[in-house]
Amino acid sequence: MQPVINEPIFEYRPGSPERQDLQRAIEELKQLKVDIPLRIGGERVSSKRTYNCVMPHNHSHVLGQFHCADAEHATSAVEAAAKAHPIWSKMPLEDRARVFLKAADLLAGPWRAKLNAATMLGQGKTAHQAEIDSACELIDFLRFNVQFARDIYANQPISGPGCQNRSEYRALEGFIFALTPFNFTAIAGNLCVAPAIMGNTIVWKPSERAVYSANLLMDLFEEAGLPPGVINMIPSDVPEPISNVLLSHPDFAGLHFTGSTRVFQLLWQQISENIGNYRNYPRIVGETGGKDFIFAHSSAHVDALVTSMVRGAFEYQGQKCSAASRAYVPASLWDEVVTKLKSQVESIKIGAVTDFSNFMSAVIDDRSFANIASYIDHAKNSEDHDILVGGTYDDSEGYFVQPTVVIAHKPNTKLMTEEIFGPVLTIHKYDDDKLDEALTACDTATPYGLTGAIFATDRTTICELTERLKHSAGNFYVNDKPTGAVVGQQPFGGGRASGTNDKAGSMWNLIRWVTPRTIKETYDPATDYRYPSMLPDNTSE
Ligand code: NAD
Repeated sequence: MQPVINEPIFEYRPGSPERQDLQRAIEELKQLKVDIPLRIGGERVSSKRTYNCVMPHNHSHVLGQFHCADAEHATSAVEAAAKAHPIWSKMPLEDRARVFLKAADLLAGPWRAKLNAATMLGQGKTAHQAEIDSACELIDFLRFNVQFARDIYANQPISGPGCQNRSEYRALEGFIFALTPFNFTAIAGNLCVAPAIMGNTIVWKPSERAVYSANLLMDLFEEAGLPPGVINMIPSDVPEPISNVLLSHPDFAGLHFTGSTRVFQLLWQQISENIGNYRNYPRIVGETGGKDFIFAHSSAHVDALVTSMVRGAFEYQGQKCSAASRAYVPASLWDEVVTKLKSQVESIKIGAVTDFSNFMSAVIDDRSFANIASYIDHAKNSEDHDILVGGTYDDSEGYFVQPTVVIAHKPNTKLMTEEIFGPVLTIHKYDDDKLDEALTACDTATPYGLTGAIFATDRTTICELTERLKHSAGNFYVNDKPTGAVVGQQPFGGGRASGTNDKAGSMWNLIRWVTPRTIKETYDPATDYRYPSMLPDNTSE
């Protein structure tokens, strides 16, 4: 079998065919107003209430509307998943794999421009940010997950004389609840696809802020031959009635969640309250919030450090769980870092995603905009902070927040410790001779442990910092930005309040979606219960 390789990233240079395809797809989608139904058991289902999908950079432009699911739809989706389960879970892995490998090929080819365009328009991503998400990362998830599933199936026990042992990797009994965030089309796809590859059937509630691309994912899976009922999509802007039905159902077999820490903890609590009602102990997989850091040592290469700060903090408007959100800079490098950082951030171009020269666009919606603005206002009004650059915002046309760098005069201020999920980087100066104190602050200032980066050129220091910050990040970078994990290269996830660290993009995630059965078959079964050791002493051989 061919080794799996990562999907190459298209560059979208002026005049390139991929740029023309993408621009055409953007124009086509902008002309349409799509009506997005629920998908239950392969049927397109309407509901009484709808919710608009708008462009973050121009919120008066309505791209479409989706039908909102309620508790009854959630029950129907569970029934559809149960109906599809017997055939799908018994289907040989290689047949299930065909569906996802075909989806990968479709996405690498004719579907690429359309899904990228939808992710750009609906979730506010630039061409490059959409390409690395809705094209490359999702294609990688689809192809690598198939390989990881094969690796799991190939893992078999040894057999002794006269018997044969084998492990059967059964799908879980019941349905998987996939609950997905707005910020990555690839994550939304993967949270459904990973359990489905292992033979499970899914009830999926996408983020109300990303239903526009979610709808196309359902079309893609359908075109690739996914049987009805394997993935059932029930979007809603009011998630609680849906999650109440799903989490109290006896057939609830697992939660595949990515989103905020607060919501994950609520769901876990709800699961624990229902624990006596389930047929099986449910699998709970959640990748959640972060307050990701860059820690610079005095031996750091300043230009590399500053570029990583800019890309790490401001790409996709800081709306990546892995986005650099706080940085620790030694006094010896402070002036140079601050000068270069200010000048680079001032040069960032921000605007519509349809203008390919922009590095940044708008944040996802009014709720996010207000939340980020409240942090900027706090920084302006608090003695603990000063704004170095940025600090303005305007939602008159789109939800635009200027890239903002805040200086924190203490290591434990509000902006140094809370997840903001927007284009705000807070930096703190530490004395070079108080390195240990600064490392303690970095390690303990937040409850999270998702991503982090250190910048240093001295090898002993790299070893020391790596060891010292061992539990501060599940994805740790040396002399690189803390974002941009690649499937198969940097399996992704963090500990502490950042999640269960089941490493999306690895076999460790897929193993959560099976319940192995060990089968021992004996060729020559015993016919006497007595053991030789029980024979009397004078018995001859
Ligand atoms: P969110 O927690 O607001 O929403 C996630 C999903 O949960 C959505 O589908 C939403 O509708 C649903 N939801 C919200 N409240 C709910 C409730 N009370 N009951 C049931 N469902 C509910 O997250 P978001 O704003 O979409 O995404 C941003 C968050 O996700 C950030 O905290 C970010 O760090 C995190 N994230 C983490 C990772 C990771 O891999 N660790 C990746 C992406 C995003």
